[in-house]
Amino acid sequence: MVVACPLCGKKNEWKGNPFRPFCSERCKMVDLGAWAGEEYRIPGDRADDEEGETIPDTRAVPPRPADPAA
Ligand SMILES: [Zn+2]
Repeated sequence: MVVACPLCGKKNEWKGNPFRPFCSERCKMVDLGAWAGEEYRIPGDRADDEEGETIPDTRAVPPRPADPAA
């Protein structure tokens, strides 16, 4: 049986493929990484970030509109 890799679409043999349904370990890891990096993010974990982090340097660079007349 030949299946298409859900990540890159490359056809690969299902039988004997340790990375199925992916074509390779790379695609498997990429998919896992994407899942862990984005979808697994918990809303509200930014509160933890602020706890130990320094304040962002927003004050050092005050927002100002572009001035084409300058
Ligand atoms: Zn693939």
